[in-house]
Amino acid sequence: MSEPTIPVRPFTAAAFNQYLGEKKLMAAKCKKCGGAFVPPRAICPKCHSEDIEWVETSGKGKLAAFTVIYSGPTFMVEQGFDKKNPYVSGIVELEEGTNISARITGLDVSKPAEIKIGSPLKVDFVKFGEGEARKTYLAFKA
Ligand SMILES: [Zn+2]
Repeated sequence: MSEPTIPVRPFTAAAFNQYLGEKKLMAAKCKKCGGAFVPPRAICPKCHSEDIEWVETSGKGKLAAFTVIYSGPTFMVEQGFDKKNPYVSGIVELEEGTNISARITGLDVSKPAEIKIGSPLKVDFVKFGEGEARKTYLAFKA
């Protein structure tokens, strides 16, 4: 008996978001040079190889940069974020060596000066929306 072959999902934002819904932060990894990248790409940005595979990341990283957002895009406003209730958007450097931008939760937004670059973060999956529109968004928790 041979193992059933699991079809490889395409290296697209849609497949990446599908994995998020399964609470998996997946990176595309180049089999040739070992580079990992998020969001995924079908061609390695480093060596241009098309020999790519999905790998699940550890979900751990550190804060590389951040901004406190007082006036966000509509879908953040719909979640109750505004001038009085700002949120943090940041760049996270994953253990796998790739950077990703995401919402950062668990920080004291009233004291941005106390938020430290290099703070350890862990992946978090934020669900928002009703019914069919319910989606999972990538976030990182301090
Ligand atoms: Zn490569």
